[in-house]
Amino acid sequence: MISFYPGPSKVYPQVEQYLSEAYKSGILSVNHRSDVFMEMLQNTIGSVKRSLEIPDAYEVYFVSSATECWEIIAQSLINTSSFHIYNGAFGAKWMEYTDKIRKGAAGLEFGINEVPDMAALNIDLGHDVICVTHNETSNGTALPNSFLSDLRQRTNQIIAVDATSSMAGVLLPWQDADVWYASVQKCFGLPAGLAVMVVSPQAVARAEQVGDRHFYNSLLFTRENFLKFQTPYTPNALGIYLLGRIAEQVVPMHEMSAEILSRSREWYSFLPEHGYELLVENEAVRSATVVAVHADREKITKVKAMARQAGIQLGNGYGAWKDSSFRIANFPAISLSDISLLRNFLFSISHL
Ligand SMILES: *Cc1c(COP(=O)(O)O)cnc(C)c1O
Repeated sequence: MISFYPGPSKVYPQVEQYLSEAYKSGILSVNHRSDVFMEMLQNTIGSVKRSLEIPDAYEVYFVSSATECWEIIAQSLINTSSFHIYNGAFGAKWMEYTDKIRKGAAGLEFGINEVPDMAALNIDLGHDVICVTHNETSNGTALPNSFLSDLRQRTNQIIAVDATSSMAGVLLPWQDADVWYASVQKCFGLPAGLAVMVVSPQAVARAEQVGDRHFYNSLLFTRENFLKFQTPYTPNALGIYLLGRIAEQVVPMHEMSAEILSRSREWYSFLPEHGYELLVENEAVRSATVVAVHADREKITKVKAMARQAGIQLGNGYGAWKDSSFRIANFPAISLSDISLLRNFLFSISHL
């Protein structure tokens, strides 16, 4: 079965080899306070920073999931309250979880074909962390880079970005935000159980000002450990090892970005040409990494069932679009031959 599910998604085929090498290297049995582990962690951080083209001044920590990042940001970076700008299920869930930890989370929900109107936003009114979802996996939209640079120019508050389904797929404008995070089961092409958190010096300064040390995953506590190439708790050593190997293997992110963008443009022209309606009409906000197709429930059910028979796993709809869409991951681990297989399949049933 070839998976086009947008997470957990197809892992890179090299993972099989890396798993076996991880076992043989002995790294899975060593203590996480040992030199061998610390060296491996240091190498992985270095490789991730290099391949994702992360600015030197930003720090990289590994935690367990994107969901954990929601918790860390709420506990360790919000002094007063957060402001969430979102258009789908993941952005909404982030606001909901944050409000449980730090009362007073406010938000602006925008339409899936819109770019949020910066001029209409009062984001500095006491909200000291602005939360946006770079790539809304649930509906296949993405924020244009111009939005992020505009937001950066309008506020000195902390900007936190959920880039779970775009980091390691497209090059991110790192300097335009303070906290970026993603779990690895999407564009990184790895098994779930690890997340990458990228933190600016300004976010570190905020964490120091907030001074949260109440939790095992407090940002300050996590940071103190990572600066020594250690972790606050016994880490997912296998996940960190695999991430390091993948980061060494992939092409630099500006090249990857160009490839993923070109593949997405092909999807966005192929689909409507063959009778498939795109969920997102506004080209400016279409995601490069998650392509959403809109149809009635009956057609969706048929297409997904026939795909399964052809050995292809399509992504279900999610949230508000659960029954009226299917999703196609355009992640780097998906090969050109996987794509042509899916294309031939969609072509062969385009009479439906
Ligand atoms: C998948 C996803 C998450 C949740 O990731 P977990 O690893 O399950 O915590 C959060 N946000 C977005 C945008 C996602 O796509």
